[in-house]
Amino acid sequence: MSVIDTLNKLLGDPNERELKKLWPLVRSVRAMAESDAIQKLQLDDLPKKTKEFQARITEGATTDDLLIEAFATVIRACELIRGTSTTLGKQTFTWDMVPFDVQILGGIVLHQGNIAEMKTGEGKTLVCTMPVYLNALTGKGVHVVTVNDYLAKRDALWMGMLYQALGLSVGTVLHEKTTPERREAYASDVTYGTNNEFGFDYLRDNMAISVHNQVQRPLYYSIVDEVDSILVDEARTPLIISQPAEESTEKYMRYSQLVKQLTENVHYNKDEKQRVATLTEEGIAKMEELLGVENIYTDKGFEEVHHIEQALRAHAIYERDVDYVVRDGEIIIVDEFTGRLMPGRRYGHGLHQAIEAQEGVPIQRESKTLATITFQNYFRLYEKLAGMTGTAKTEEEEFESIYRLRTIVIPTNQPMVRNDKADSIYRTVEAKFKAVAKIAGEKHETGQPVLVGTTSIEKSEVLALLLEQEKIPHQVLNAKNHEREADIVAQAGQAGAVTIATNMAGRGTDIKLGEGVVDLGGLCILGTERHEARRIDNQLRGRSGRQGDPGESQFFVSMEDDLMRLFGGDRLKSMMERLHVPDDVPLENKMVSRSIESAQKKVEGRNFDTRRHVVQYDDVMNKHREIIYTRRQKILQRLQESEESAQDSEEGALHADVLQALRGEANMMVDAHAAQEDSEEWNITEIREILSALHPQVAKAADERLSGFQDNEKLRAFLQELLVSFYESKCLQFDVQIVAQAERVVTLRSIDTNWMSHIDEMAHLREQVAFSGFAQRDPLIEYKDQGFRKFRQLIATIDAEIVRMLLQIDFAQFAPRAFLQQAQEDLEGTQTNVNEIEAELAQTGVGNAVKQGANPVIMRDPKQTGAPRAITTQAPRAVSKVGRNDPCPCGSGKSTKSATDEKSSSFVVNNIFLLSICSILSSSCSKFLRSSATTLSLSSWHKTEKPEMLFTRTFSPVQDT
Ligand code: ADP
Ligand code: MG
Repeated sequence: MSVIDTLNKLLGDPNERELKKLWPLVRSVRAMAESDAIQKLQLDDLPKKTKEFQARITEGATTDDLLIEAFATVIRACELIRGTSTTLGKQTFTWDMVPFDVQILGGIVLHQGNIAEMKTGEGKTLVCTMPVYLNALTGKGVHVVTVNDYLAKRDALWMGMLYQALGLSVGTVLHEKTTPERREAYASDVTYGTNNEFGFDYLRDNMAISVHNQVQRPLYYSIVDEVDSILVDEARTPLIISQPAEESTEKYMRYSQLVKQLTENVHYNKDEKQRVATLTEEGIAKMEELLGVENIYTDKGFEEVHHIEQALRAHAIYERDVDYVVRDGEIIIVDEFTGRLMPGRRYGHGLHQAIEAQEGVPIQRESKTLATITFQNYFRLYEKLAGMTGTAKTEEEEFESIYRLRTIVIPTNQPMVRNDKADSIYRTVEAKFKAVAKIAGEKHETGQPVLVGTTSIEKSEVLALLLEQEKIPHQVLNAKNHEREADIVAQAGQAGAVTIATNMAGRGTDIKLGEGVVDLGGLCILGTERHEARRIDNQLRGRSGRQGDPGESQFFVSMEDDLMRLFGGDRLKSMMERLHVPDDVPLENKMVSRSIESAQKKVEGRNFDTRRHVVQYDDVMNKHREIIYTRRQKILQRLQESEESAQDSEEGALHADVLQALRGEANMMVDAHAAQEDSEEWNITEIREILSALHPQVAKAADERLSGFQDNEKLRAFLQELLVSFYESKCLQFDVQIVAQAERVVTLRSIDTNWMSHIDEMAHLREQVAFSGFAQRDPLIEYKDQGFRKFRQLIATIDAEIVRMLLQIDFAQFAPRAFLQQAQEDLEGTQTNVNEIEAELAQTGVGNAVKQGANPVIMRDPKQTGAPRAITTQAPRAVSKVGRNDPCPCGSGKSTKSATDEKSSSFVVNNIFLLSICSILSSSCSKFLRSSATTLSLSSWHKTEKPEMLFTRTFSPVQDT
């Protein structure tokens, strides 16, 4: 007995204790719902009741205060709308639900910001309406997160009947919706949508150039349906918005040629420390001449100027065989700290391409990351978070430590009577699949419906082929069309139905049993493989036995399965061979099933560590993101306010900030080059150079006086005044509106482009620190330290760029409208990695640990395989004769016939053999965990990166194991 179990014995099961606290509240809700005050409410009264609650909240009541009455009102509304119906495609929803007590209980758990574990078919769709209603009364907007667009649409429509009766507005954020439609959806009391849509909208909002282009309100409360899929499975791939790869690489070549004609200190200045080169006014003029344009900033746009400067950097700063080497037509970076070659790594933001152009090697296109966030960090932005699923308990610790979500297991409405059988274990994959097909055929003949779960589309197809050969009619689902599949899955409980599905197919649709199926034993689930996470297995099992229905489930395992091979499957396989176990004779034993489960548990723990690791790293970035996004949002709001109170004579909302940045720039110069008491030690030449890089005329204006200072505070005041007055006099030449527009565009652009570079740099830093792990330093601490430094640098760079751009850009030719329009169009041309995230979920069948060793199922034509080998009698003592209808001596209670071929002899499982299986499983399990943690570590998280980067991954150790 584990320590936890002993403690539970002493203190009582914590889950039971929690439920005990909540039951009285459930009874109060029920009593209230049955009270005259609530019972007398008619349909017309419901919206009034809602208004009354809203008024009480305005007067200071909390949602907790209103819980009993609000929940009771929802229950009453359910009673009142009974019999009304609505349609979605071919489906008709007729309202026939009034919450059960356990559903009220689940609703309370959700309201309290926890996870309600409620089995499939317990009616979670309805459960969440109670806390949704209660919390929507605050007017802050409640989000319900579903795993796909179809479910968002379905639930919004279906539960919409209820919300509408109560007087709440409902919206959906679906993939195809436009910006105004999204804004409207988010303005609703309740918003349904997928995690992807919510997350990407958040990122897009933080790239918007005006509050008018934003769609979300502050994130208040979200209930995540199928919370494990979204917060565990999908959390391995972060959300990424990127700009498609540039179509042409020609311009890199062109700029690379042109910058060779520029001269240092005439056309550009170098800053060796920051490793940048900036064009002087003369340099800009020269480039304009070479390119034949009047003004590169307006004619070519910021992006192009950026590319020119990168070409200049490549030319003037980066040195072959010092910073990089050229090998096999590729530029390979030399790590500046270790001197190590870093194949596969690339400099960000066009610099790598610029170097490639300069060296005359093929230029590789790449897409640019504009914004990214992990689901973990997106969902932690909500003031309150809750989740529901049939399978959370196994991942309880993860929810608790990452999201502060506790998992409360809600009892089922009816007792669960499904029969979960022991695993059936075969020597080969082939034999296993044939057995599954055979059993499915047998069940089909009796009329009992069968749902076969596979871990991948390919495996589904293999099985479909087998069933076809046996002429067994069946349906195959692979999570491609959610709506159509929902229809098919809904039919999977009809007599004689055989359905093959991958894990994700038809999720969220419960399987109701057809007529007479209860007497046939209910739905039979056949799992064709054990997943590395028990949770995924439980999801499949949970499809059967809903609301007290009968049902059965069994998993089929072979020694060649990925999971088994990791845990000594090969040894077991040869042992089975030595014992002459025929291919088609399975082992079935609870003890083996339990060992498999404990192996799964260990892998789960390891995968959790990996995800926690991902979060720890992302937390560093998260702080940076928070600061940048907050700053950006404040700017947008200020712009908005000044727009609303627009008076032509007033200066722009950002003008004061710009002046502040100018003063900051002056401070930097003094702090860096004139900090000493003794003015002899100052580096006035350097200051002069910086000034002339800012604008040659500034340097000119300063010239005589610059060397005359003794006191650096006086110098500071002088420089501040110099920059500010220079800028102010420039502004005076233009319309206030134009200045305001210039300040707006330059500020936002500087924040955005530098923030994007920072994202890239932090990604590179992550790889770098993976190396430092070998130098006995904690990579995470290293990452935090260097990340902090990079972030400070980022802030400084942003301000410096704002200052430089504003001093240099010619406002007269500034086309503000065009800029804004361009900025918005740029945003619309972006792409997301939504497909990759969805693939992650569809692939939960084979998690990341086993993926690496995975081999495809290769099946021979079943007809060509010979009859099973007979068991030889000289097999060990353990083998004795057992009649085929006798119960199997392994203790499963199953007749040996059911899974064996008529002609083959029976096989008795020897206890010693079993014990050795279990011990091999558990010993190789711990060995596996020790040895392979390294290579299997950050695998999936890194999937978004270029494949060349794989190399760093393979020797980045998991630090916390
Ligand atoms: P889950 O999401 O928990 O798997 P669903 O919300 O899809 O379950 O509901 C499963 C089925 O149970 C639906 O067909 C629904 O109509 C039905 N159901 C849920 N709650 C009730 C109820 N209180 N009374 C009657 N039927 C209900
Ligand atoms: Mg559901």
